[in-house]
Amino acid sequence: MELNHTHDPQARSWLDSANGPDNDFPIQNLPFGVFRRRGSGETFRGGVAIGNQVIDLTAVTASGTLDGLAADAAHAASQPALNALLAMGPAAWSALRHALFDALSAGASGPRTDALRASLVPQDDVEHSVPTRIGDYTDFYTSIHHARNVGRVIRPDDPLTPNFQWLPIAYHGRASSVVVSGTPFHRPMGQAMPPGSSSPVYGPCARLDYELEMGFYVGPGNALGQRVPLDRAEQHIFGMCLLNDWSARDHQFWEMAPLGPFLGKNFCTSVSPWIVTMEALAPFRVPFSRPADEPQPLPYLDGAANRAQGGVDVRLEVLLETAQHRARELAPARLSATSFRHQYWTPAQMLTQHTVGGCNLQPGDLLGTGTISGPTPEEAGAMVELSLGGSRAIPIEGTDEQRRFLEDGDRVILRGWCERPGVTRIGFGTCEGEVLPINPG
Ligand code: CA
Repeated sequence: MELNHTHDPQARSWLDSANGPDNDFPIQNLPFGVFRRRGSGETFRGGVAIGNQVIDLTAVTASGTLDGLAADAAHAASQPALNALLAMGPAAWSALRHALFDALSAGASGPRTDALRASLVPQDDVEHSVPTRIGDYTDFYTSIHHARNVGRVIRPDDPLTPNFQWLPIAYHGRASSVVVSGTPFHRPMGQAMPPGSSSPVYGPCARLDYELEMGFYVGPGNALGQRVPLDRAEQHIFGMCLLNDWSARDHQFWEMAPLGPFLGKNFCTSVSPWIVTMEALAPFRVPFSRPADEPQPLPYLDGAANRAQGGVDVRLEVLLETAQHRARELAPARLSATSFRHQYWTPAQMLTQHTVGGCNLQPGDLLGTGTISGPTPEEAGAMVELSLGGSRAIPIEGTDEQRRFLEDGDRVILRGWCERPGVTRIGFGTCEGEVLPINPG
């Protein structure tokens, strides 16, 4: 992905809130989501975040001020889900981005700029839904640090499975329980084998956890039986989001051999409302490399472009807000921080691996990256790692509380952003969710 004038760090918008230094949504970002005015009962439709506002793509389409591919893309996005836009591919996504960028730029004028100004809805006044109708959701497992940290809990003598360094491993998840940020969920019930017991128990999850992940949405997709080669994989990726793969560790560790996670993972997965496009992420791409003493990717998972800039440097952090934080009006406590750049496999390698057997991906499908843990213990992306499998209590800053796993009333907040000297910072907003007690019903 080449840089172009929509990445110009000097660019400003006539919308003042888009120009602040710590703002997630400057004119260089323009992420897509689905929204409506909160409590209005309106139809959900596509929108683009700019500063503290949302551009209503339905209103812009109705104004008739866009033309060509940009107009077609905005029309496709004027629906309760973005699948039709994602199916159009990179040329259409880029045409709409460039049209919006030009009309939002400081000094721009004319009917298109007037239409954008008239379409703005304050972000404080909107609610979101999941941005696409997700046909299928797959969750990868591509942080070697997470794999080693969790592997030590489950298999202390053999933490890393032999396949990990040869292919991006994954399981097929559950699309129906993917929810948008802000949606609370009940602590799940399930079956677990308590340590030292000889028979399992059925009851509330006692080891509820979060997983700091990113997700990416599939663009045009591929026909059944048609592989997507690595050098074309990114043309099939619309953009990235924040994702929390909530996990019931006690249920998961008991049930997952030999077929993989089931109820331990399928009760809730949260995504951020905004999808940051691959074009917006272009200035933050980093090389993919593999230490010389580790297995190099097989040729179908290797390529010059992937080596040069297959990675993405997205800074990430996990915050915890307990009931005590809320009662005392304290800021949430930071649990960890890391970057997506440490991941062992790139989004392109994940997408290609998904298709090489012939599996067809469809527009709007969601692929999770797996938990993102960095190389140091402080960079762990799940509580099971920070608490060493629950053996160590984590002090929660600002409170007299400790955690080994999540308690009812806990709210987990994921944040993500990209920054680099000489480039305008862009952000993903947040992905949040709160643990409710067991559903009494
Ligand atoms: Ca996961």
